[in-house]
Amino acid sequence: MLNLIIFGPPGSGKGTQAEKLEKKFNLVHISTGDIFRSEIAEGSELGIRASAFMAKGELVPDEVTIGMLRKKMMAHKEAEGFIFDGFPRTDPQAEALESLLGMLDQQIDALLMLDVPEDEIVKRIVLRSAESGRADDRDETIIRNRFQVYQTQTEPIYAYYDAKGKAHKVPGMGSIDDIFQKLCDVISSIHV
Ligand code: ADP
Repeated sequence: MLNLIIFGPPGSGKGTQAEKLEKKFNLVHISTGDIFRSEIAEGSELGIRASAFMAKGELVPDEVTIGMLRKKMMAHKEAEGFIFDGFPRTDPQAEALESLLGMLDQQIDALLMLDVPEDEIVKRIVLRSAESGRADDRDETIIRNRFQVYQTQTEPIYAYYDAKGKAHKVPGMGSIDDIFQKLCDVISSIHV
């Protein structure tokens, strides 16, 4: 069993690295942002609720996000492990994750934080907006708001896992493969 959280500001490369970790370690990849976007594309009730928050760069309310995550995890009870991408983003989400994993007799092994400065993030997101087609990637004010939300509501979760000795920081600058290698080095140092 290996349960990981890929962590870091918007645009830090979480999705890219999560996909590589998913393949290498045979994990179930749960990206809350991707789930919301596919619900929006389907026009579901959940998607309609989430889109108003996402468009402004705000967080979707915890009860909505946690309920959705619970459903997703329970559908994968057979998983060899999970990689959580974009979750947890608030303290209540971190607590909910602990208790959901506890119900499956599991726990988080590591939180891996990709460290990238704000100006680099804005540059990257504006660049990717052409291909991502995401409305929240197009406008610098919304991107800066997402970064602000990250700093105030999400970044404190690093300390929550650091206190358990499970938080690891990796520089998120450099090539995709170099960063991936550094993440794998951390995992091999903790995973027996
Ligand atoms: P990024 O990390 O680039 O911001 P995501 O796809 O992870 O991209 O998230 C996009 C948006 O989806 C967030 O700005 C937020 O509105 C919503 N979202 C994703 N995950 C969560 C979550 N765990 N809690 C609340 N809102 C979320």
